[in-house]
Amino acid sequence: MLPLRILFASPEVEPFVKAGGLGDMVGALPKELAALGHDVRIICPLYGSVKRVGEWRERAEPLGVEVGPETLWAKVWETTLPGTTVPVYFIEHEWLFGRKEVYSSWPDNAHRFAFFSRAALTVCEQLDWLPEVIHAHDWTVGLLPVMLNTTLRDRPIARAATVFTIHNLEYQGYAPKSIIDFARLPLSEFRADSIESHGQVNMMKAGLYHSTKITTVSPTYAQEIRTPAGGFGLDQVLRYRGGDLLGIVNGIDVGTWNPATDPALPANYSAADMAGKAICKKALQGKLGLAVDANIPLFGVISRFAGQKGLDLLAAALPRVLGVMRVQFAILGSGEAELENAYRAIAAQHPGRVGAHIGFDAGLARLIQAGADVFVMPSRTEPCGLTQMYSMRYGTPPLVRATGGLVDTVENYVESAGTGTGFVFKDATANALYDTIGWACATYYDRREDFAGLQQRGMAQNFAWKVSAEQYVNVYRWAISARERAGT
Ligand code: ADP
Repeated sequence: MLPLRILFASPEVEPFVKAGGLGDMVGALPKELAALGHDVRIICPLYGSVKRVGEWRERAEPLGVEVGPETLWAKVWETTLPGTTVPVYFIEHEWLFGRKEVYSSWPDNAHRFAFFSRAALTVCEQLDWLPEVIHAHDWTVGLLPVMLNTTLRDRPIARAATVFTIHNLEYQGYAPKSIIDFARLPLSEFRADSIESHGQVNMMKAGLYHSTKITTVSPTYAQEIRTPAGGFGLDQVLRYRGGDLLGIVNGIDVGTWNPATDPALPANYSAADMAGKAICKKALQGKLGLAVDANIPLFGVISRFAGQKGLDLLAAALPRVLGVMRVQFAILGSGEAELENAYRAIAAQHPGRVGAHIGFDAGLARLIQAGADVFVMPSRTEPCGLTQMYSMRYGTPPLVRATGGLVDTVENYVESAGTGTGFVFKDATANALYDTIGWACATYYDRREDFAGLQQRGMAQNFAWKVSAEQYVNVYRWAISARERAGT
């Protein structure tokens, strides 16, 4: 099989900048594609918060990006994904991207990312490196395929097929109509079957209509988003494009997420020797001010505090849980102020039993994965979810709601058969969550062998990116041949 030239156009890439699972994917999948022999490169904006890991080189030639009334000038920095030769290009434009935040709710977000989409294509032209396929990620780069299909259609770069991955359909990137001028797109695209939605430009919808193929991050989510209940207003487009839409479960970076080697842990361990996990639990209890006790079930949470994650259900269930069960909770997250305050308050009311760290802390996240006994993820919707896979790998059975990628990655525990990898509940209610925490708690106390079996089966799962990377290569080839047939 011939190697492919693949460009990742992405708003995040681990370990330089990450706001969520999208960053994990863009930092990991290219490594596997390169290992399979493909020429893969990544382009990302240079936010003020980007970590300059490894060697960086500024490209001598300035980058003229054709947006707005006049060309905007940017700088391009070149580095590689750590441990690989995969080139990563960062686009520097102080005025648009000097700020620290990746997304926030800046009024000029559409301009920032329209600029970035055009810049990504311009870098390829400047390098004289024309990708056969461009893999674009979520709404920020939704206008990129539109540019290729319209304004740029006669340029060589427009021969590239596009694969658009939906990481989270909830965030769609609404923009004022004036973005059409700024992005230099034809006004004729401002229609409901292209980029228009409710009188504005919807950047996610633009990507969905204009990409050659569409993927999302789990098969169950690929089904859910085609329905009115799960489509966030875009189910019609997704049904229309259903023949071009595929769900592929995200892998995880099994190199960096490995309890046997993770340098962030006070002790390492493996399925064959779990002794180190008890040391991690003790360290976690100490760090979050919990009573140090090896024999109490410790439930962990690591999450963005957003409605989607169902943490309001946990906040509602916790007083009752703490009233009747002998348990501890270690909670790490940030986001909606209401939830931040709710968890601060619960922790203050239950010293020694609930520890809450409000913020983003990668080291603590790893300690929770390792030190907790059960990992709680009551998501209302979950495109794929990574933390439940990390937790299984760290011997911490997940407790999840049956939605999206959680259905595809966690197998419910069946007591009579001694099978499964976690605890799964259906209804998005505090009651159902309460019952399931009770079930996990009883399993921990009363059926220790079963509990150990859950841990072992979870640790034996193969979540390596390699499996999904091969599926992506098939999608790239599918997209390339479709683009060739279309003659553009
Ligand atoms: P999403 O992308 O919807 O936020 P995922 O489970 O796919 O959810 O990915 C979340 C990623 O972000 C995981 O790597 C998780 O460890 C990390 N993460 C989330 N919240 C925090 C936090 N407060 N501190 C550290 N890491 C976090």
